[in-house]
Amino acid sequence: MGRTLPLRAELRGLTPYGAPMLDVPVRLNVNENPYPPSEALVAYAAEAAADAVRGLNRYPDRDARALRCDLAAYLGHGLDESRVWAANGSNEIMLQLLQAFGGPGRTALSFAPTYSMYPEYARATATTWVTGRRDEDFGIERTHALEQVARHQPSVVLLASPNNPTGTALPLDLVTALHDSCDGIVVVDEAYAEFRRTGTPSSLTLLAHHPRLVVVRTMSKAFAFAGARLGYMAGAPDIISAVQVVRLPYHLSAVTQAVARVALAHAHELLAKVEAIRIDRDEITQWLRDQGLVVPDSDANFVLVGRFADRHAVWLGLLDRGVLVRETGPEGYLRVTVGTPDEMAAFRSAIVEVMG
Ligand code: PMP
Repeated sequence: MGRTLPLRAELRGLTPYGAPMLDVPVRLNVNENPYPPSEALVAYAAEAAADAVRGLNRYPDRDARALRCDLAAYLGHGLDESRVWAANGSNEIMLQLLQAFGGPGRTALSFAPTYSMYPEYARATATTWVTGRRDEDFGIERTHALEQVARHQPSVVLLASPNNPTGTALPLDLVTALHDSCDGIVVVDEAYAEFRRTGTPSSLTLLAHHPRLVVVRTMSKAFAFAGARLGYMAGAPDIISAVQVVRLPYHLSAVTQAVARVALAHAHELLAKVEAIRIDRDEITQWLRDQGLVVPDSDANFVLVGRFADRHAVWLGLLDRGVLVRETGPEGYLRVTVGTPDEMAAFRSAIVEVMG
């Protein structure tokens, strides 16, 4: 007789996280950068990858030192290798942070609606997950935030800024108020930071004077390098050391390290489309508002749009017309990644048809 698997109780009946991977012409559902690397960059990366492959009988640099130096140089703000850490996507970075600073009997606090992977890191590390709320324009009210910290005494506060799925960024005085009011680490997930509008600051500027602050970044979005899986963070050296205790040895492959270094050496070229995406984002925001829809100001490469009486019907209608967006976020809203001008034109005609 078959025995049931000894699966952890909290995992029973769950399915893997992820957006539907459907083969449709216009994919605006996972906030990718729609512009692939140039052939010149492909050639440089292929050369670096070939060099790495020649040494694949050996393990890679466990500490990814050269890559961390390059990442620190890219971030600026006086950072160096001792204050920067890299992993397979910012997802892995944040999981490592919860492995080191969360755990049984500890609490991680965030403010919903926010990135839907956060509770998964908490679940994987047996950390208690609590959320405060965002207000109507998806900001976080200061008194409410401080109350949540006082009530839950979190060892980790997780803030996405710009936030997914709303696109909204947080003011730095809220970040510093949270940092100063709690004993935990404050993690600002800046996956979309390079797309922020002029005048929206980055929490990198706070690092020097806020020892429990961590800023997480990724090469998956502005760098147009999602397939390479490279995320990173900046924080005080003792936070970096703590994460090194929980990381698996040789977690970052030699090929990943080599190819990411090529991308950083050509950062200027890879980031060249960021400006165009920001302009197209502001254009689609205005266009959707002109159609009578609600779109919060976005500092990211996507917009949240609503409110639809039946968002699933709109999502399906778009899909029928070859346009895949994401059914996520607050009830009545859809999230749309900013694609190429052709893709946005396809999205505009599809939504006009769907809305009749
Ligand atoms: N943070 C946020 C807010 C995101 O939206 C995403 C990707 N959708 C990630 C982190 C993870 O990105 P990656 O693991 O590719 O770096």
